[in-house]
Amino acid sequence: MCFFSFAASKPKKILLITGGCCHDYAFQSKAIMDAVSAVVDAEWTVKNEGGNGTSAKIDLYEDENWARPYDLVIHNECFADTKDSTYIRKITSAHAKGVNAIFLHCALHTYRSAEIDDWRQLIGMTSKRHDHQSRYPVTMVSSGKLTKGVQNTWLSPKDELYVIEKIGPKAEVLAVSKSEKDGREYPVAWTNKYGKAKIFGMSFGHGNETFTDANFIRLLQNAAHWLCK
Ligand SMILES: [Zn+2]
Repeated sequence: MCFFSFAASKPKKILLITGGCCHDYAFQSKAIMDAVSAVVDAEWTVKNEGGNGTSAKIDLYEDENWARPYDLVIHNECFADTKDSTYIRKITSAHAKGVNAIFLHCALHTYRSAEIDDWRQLIGMTSKRHDHQSRYPVTMVSSGKLTKGVQNTWLSPKDELYVIEKIGPKAEVLAVSKSEKDGREYPVAWTNKYGKAKIFGMSFGHGNETFTDANFIRLLQNAAHWLCK
């Protein structure tokens, strides 16, 4: 049940997929669940599988209907070197049928080594590298419902700015930040459409401090509320 639904409605089933390299997934998973549970009556399933390396294939996707039970899937995993096309298409094709999703930080670099573009088309952004860790200035460039309660400009906690090479044709950018290296602006929050699915993405999320940042958390909550409707 989303926040404004009738109390008798069933909880929304949310799947959080996490694990892999480089981040504190135990901390981040709790922060994600606490934030989203404040605005959505959620029944959680957490899959933290595949170890802490950069390459893994998890059992979940062996069933082609893996996503069917869920109202929303949150991807916060980090497996940059997994590149098996058949495996990746089991994930993307399940979303295309209409399972909405949120992608955070290293999920953008997951399957980065793959030759096929399906994962990048699902997310709506292509990124293969990031700038150094810093506190980055964020400017909101949309005033829609997803930005409600978010400051128009804010400074991120220390995080990595993902360099976006390509913005998908159905992506709508919500927020941008500026590289200290090349002076260019890159999307840091956006929406996308993929098949029948609605998508929300944010490229910040490296350090635990980001998961305590009021603007980051509010964007995540707004997105979860929207995608659970
Ligand atoms: Zn990171």
